[in-house]
Amino acid sequence: MAEQELAPERETQPTAQRGGSFLFEPVGARPFMTPEKFTDEQKQFFQTGDEFVKTELMPFSDRIEKKDNAFLRELIAKAGEIGLLGVDIAAEHGGLELDKVTSMLVAESQAANGSWATTFGAHTGIGSLPIVFFGTPEQKAKYLPDIASGKRVAAYALSEAGSGSDALGARTVARLSEDGQHYLVNGSKMWITNGGFADIYIVFLKIDGNKFTAMIVERGTPGFSQGREEHKLGIRGSSTTPLIFEDCKVPAGNVLGEIGKGHKIAFNILNVGRLKLGAFSIGGMKWALRTGVEYAVQRKQFGKAISEFGLIREKFARSAAQTYAIESMTYRASGAIDDAIAGDRRSPRDAALNEAHVMASIEEYAIEASIMKVAGSEWMFQTIDEMLQVHGGNGFVEDYAIERAFRDNRVNRIFEGTNEINRLLIPGMVFKRAMNGEIPLLQAVAQLDEELADPRQSFASAGSGTGVARISEGRLAAERRGTELAKRQFIFVAKRAAMLGPELEQRQEVLAALADVAIEIYAMDSILGRTLASENKPELRDALCRFFCMESRERAFDRARTALCATVPAGQLEAELEQLTRLHRYTPVNSAEVREQIVPAVLESTGYPLAW
Ligand SMILES: Cc1cc2nc3c(=O)[nH]c(=O)nc-3n(C[C@H](O)[C@H](O)[C@H](O)COP(=O)(O)OP(=O)(O)OC[C@H]3O[C@@H](n4cnc5c(N)ncnc54)[C@H](O)[C@@H]3O)c2cc1C
Repeated sequence: MAEQELAPERETQPTAQRGGSFLFEPVGARPFMTPEKFTDEQKQFFQTGDEFVKTELMPFSDRIEKKDNAFLRELIAKAGEIGLLGVDIAAEHGGLELDKVTSMLVAESQAANGSWATTFGAHTGIGSLPIVFFGTPEQKAKYLPDIASGKRVAAYALSEAGSGSDALGARTVARLSEDGQHYLVNGSKMWITNGGFADIYIVFLKIDGNKFTAMIVERGTPGFSQGREEHKLGIRGSSTTPLIFEDCKVPAGNVLGEIGKGHKIAFNILNVGRLKLGAFSIGGMKWALRTGVEYAVQRKQFGKAISEFGLIREKFARSAAQTYAIESMTYRASGAIDDAIAGDRRSPRDAALNEAHVMASIEEYAIEASIMKVAGSEWMFQTIDEMLQVHGGNGFVEDYAIERAFRDNRVNRIFEGTNEINRLLIPGMVFKRAMNGEIPLLQAVAQLDEELADPRQSFASAGSGTGVARISEGRLAAERRGTELAKRQFIFVAKRAAMLGPELEQRQEVLAALADVAIEIYAMDSILGRTLASENKPELRDALCRFFCMESRERAFDRARTALCATVPAGQLEAELEQLTRLHRYTPVNSAEVREQIVPAVLESTGYPLAW
């Protein structure tokens, strides 16, 4: 009997696009936003941001590094003048009210200096978006115009010395004064970006000790002060301070959103921060690759430029492929949010409804946001680490910018929710949405059980079929097949994990491994969907996909196996592993050959080879 092919069309395809659906839909099932679709206006915003960094920022990196807060303020004001601060703010409040893709492009453009990127990100993201999305008309009118122009600087104060990951454990408290005019705030916050010079702070605290709430606190409020600047490993130019509240008198009208619903603000805003971290990573990775290539072509050892050595070239190929992945993932996710927002816009007069709708659209892609945060921070760190290695001993001394970048990058795995917390969130959200019937995990499990039980199903790549719908044929067939199989690995292990019941919550090793499989799937699915939809430089794009998928599917399988081993009783493990291994069959790739389809383009472009 002829072997049955893996059918690319899965019955589990839901009708409307949902966050997390990439786990279940076939590769390329839906068109999505890619850099190839950027409009001229979107590109223009990137170029404006890029020009700003080249002329106003990079020549003065040393001033930033020395923590010149006055200079940072000047830079913020200049960024405001050219419109970089108002992308997410409504036009009536002095902003530009542009789409999320543009917002990500602007973030990407500001990434070359970590201290600046952090300052800029805190101001335009977590510091101001709480007012954008949850402010009253009066609060918006009062604060947003100055935030958009850069006249006043914003900060976000959630963490405390005793509560970082466990943010709801905050001990800062507020109680209403007897005349009802003020809240008296007591407590302290820790590690607050822009803490040393911001004017407007979004502070999370507990009213009456138990109602978790956000408030706007202005610099100069009686009883408010900041602690000393932290001496940090990296992003030394950014300001990080504690905040202290001693009977601090905050006007009652400064409560942001509903009393007792501060968690909605805190966590929704972090979703945006996580997506933006993906965008900053693209910029950081492109910068690092360019810096590594510039060094490697002029550095000679053994009578050759080191860029001629295979092991150096492998680093370039990997970095370019990972950049292609994170770029594809970020603009896909932000484009999906834009689509969701555009799908149900109310009349501009229904501002509150619109904001709730925008917030819901962002929350819909919270799985992707956590994926962006983890993948962006870790692949950027890996790229910078490898480009430092390309610099040899010079990479270890301060004269070379890569040394600073290495230090600056470490924090990305810590803030916006640590990578451990984000890894726990990813499968947590998948299971929750599956239980609510929002994503078809249960159907996918049933379908996979059927496939595995079918003796004709070999999952092997060398099928004899010739139909166009067969995964063994066509462009990037092996990579598409590998991705479909990785999705099945996720489903296979998710089923076993779910069987742990309530115990699963405590089994973090299983959850983190599942998260890693999901991350690889989103990456492979995104680069393949993007590549298959693009005719421009097809050989280079195909090579980037091959290189990425070659490593990604190995990582995915390794993590799926880890999860399985931690889940299944010893007596069943061998049989279960055999089943899982059936889902890991693919045509191997000669990595050096694929590398050489990428590296000449990297050298020619002195960096990331795909300009849009
Ligand atoms: C430079 C810098 C800038 C920052 N800027 C801001 C800012 O602007 N605003 C703000 O509010 N905060 C900010 N932070 C704080 C940051 O968000 C926190 O440091 C972060 O959330 C981690 O909290 P923590 O430091 O208390 O670590 P902890 O929560 O104590 O975590 C310590 C370790 O334990 C792990 N861990 C904790 N809980 C769990 C769990 N349930 N399961 C498994 N592992 C767990 C963590 O992943 C981590 O590895 C900043 C921090 C830094 C360093």
